[in-house]
Amino acid sequence: MRIFISADMEGATGVTSIAQCDSRRPEYAFGCKMQQRDVLAAVRGALDGGADEVIVNDAHSHMTNLDIGEWPKGARLTSGSPKTLGMMEGFDECDGIFFLCYHAMAGTQCAVLDHTIDPNVVYSVKLNGLEVGEIGINAAAAAGKKIPVALVTGDDAACREARALWGDTVVTAAVKKARGRLAATCLGPEETYKVIYDAAIKAAQLVRGKKASVMDFAPSWTAEIAFLKTAQCDVAATLPFVERLDGRRVRFGGSDPVGMRCCVSAVLDLAGTAPF
Ligand SMILES: [Zn+2]
Repeated sequence: MRIFISADMEGATGVTSIAQCDSRRPEYAFGCKMQQRDVLAAVRGALDGGADEVIVNDAHSHMTNLDIGEWPKGARLTSGSPKTLGMMEGFDECDGIFFLCYHAMAGTQCAVLDHTIDPNVVYSVKLNGLEVGEIGINAAAAAGKKIPVALVTGDDAACREARALWGDTVVTAAVKKARGRLAATCLGPEETYKVIYDAAIKAAQLVRGKKASVMDFAPSWTAEIAFLKTAQCDVAATLPFVERLDGRRVRFGGSDPVGMRCCVSAVLDLAGTAPF
């Protein structure tokens, strides 16, 4: 059995500020240290829960945050970017998926560093009419290959968002309680290591027993994106497969959920080139 871990940073133990997730800032070293620790807890839990191999995909920003120096035997690291499937690169080679250090979607009240893919571009994303963030978008892509997402870690808001999508069939581990976008009460790393490790064992066992759930997502999909700026919408609307709905919103669709993940990234990356 092979487990895929998509590892973001905003939902890591102790992380509450933008600077801690930004490689140009001195506080970034702390973000990396906490992300690394949470990810290693999940890797060791997955291995002890029966995984033969764990593939960690570094999924934050430039995707070179994690340090392979501490990787245990049986773990792999997919490092660097760009990658065709971005945060989900390589998921289709695995039997079950963990989302580590994830965060709630843009616009969530009381959620640490809430955003959806690009905080300077996205106001909201809807898939098949349902507003989703990275948890929902990435799980929908996984649903295209019928691969279950068994574990989500992050703040309490990210965990709630995951449970709203899968009910109780997804294991969640909250490492902090949000008190706003830029504040949280955090458990210490010693405690979260154990919480994540135990959750990862349980999640790996669910995958192994084929009891982990795949998100319910109709393969024939429609995505609707609302941008923060009209100029971003102007740029996105130049793509031939994109239909403009109004000043801020575009819509596009297809029949392959994995292709959906690529299309959403492509539209957002292009929109992000618009001058403000
Ligand atoms: Zn991130």
